[in-house]
Amino acid sequence: MLPLAVTSTAGVRVLLLGAHCDDIEIGCGGTMLKLLSRDEQLEVDWIVFSSDAERESEARTSAAAFLTSAKRQNVVIENFRDGFFPYIGADIKDYFELLKRELEPDVIFTHCRTDRHQDHRVISDLTWNTFRNHMILEYEILKYDGDLGRPNCYVTFGEEICGQKIDVILEAFKSQCGKQWFTEETFRGLMRLRGVESGAASRYAEAFYARKFVLDGVSAGQASNEQRSRQHRLQADVHAYGT
Ligand SMILES: [Zn+2]
Repeated sequence: MLPLAVTSTAGVRVLLLGAHCDDIEIGCGGTMLKLLSRDEQLEVDWIVFSSDAERESEARTSAAAFLTSAKRQNVVIENFRDGFFPYIGADIKDYFELLKRELEPDVIFTHCRTDRHQDHRVISDLTWNTFRNHMILEYEILKYDGDLGRPNCYVTFGEEICGQKIDVILEAFKSQCGKQWFTEETFRGLMRLRGVESGAASRYAEAFYARKFVLDGVSAGQASNEQRSRQHRLQADVHAYGT
């Protein structure tokens, strides 16, 4: 299988969006560690939409551990009301409009469109509403609702990254460790399963939904001057297959 890389000679700007304090780490923590191990020019905006004082502290500790080698990191922890995102959607929509004005990411990681958690779905929908010409990858969060699907995009990695991801999550988010699913074997099991599906020689993977994907770059007529100057080898923001 031909692996594809998201690279740029000027560095890659990544926007991470998570409804709750541990979502980004669970959904794409291994991918971030892999990207950071390969590209120290990575610029990261890490946005969490709900928290309380305890969870904010945990989230900042965790984000710092994941982003130690980033060229630039901006960790923002907001306090929109947990569990009520569909009912305060206008406020969150306004917030996304601010993000659109302030950020120009190359790659966005967000929640899966079909996630059964209402807060996750709001963040996913507003990501697509807001960022109309960007590469968006939707990550998965395993849960009681049993909403895991059939992803179509994988990032593979080995034991070192898998173990590091799990260790940081379990160490940072002590407030969650009483939950029956918040265990080492849960996180490892899903990454091993996705590793099998992706044929990973390195055994582990995280999986994503890439609903639109363009290969071979954008044409000069469509690309902005800045996009062209950043010399993307792969601009993956348009056509792909759905599930
Ligand atoms: Zn969540």
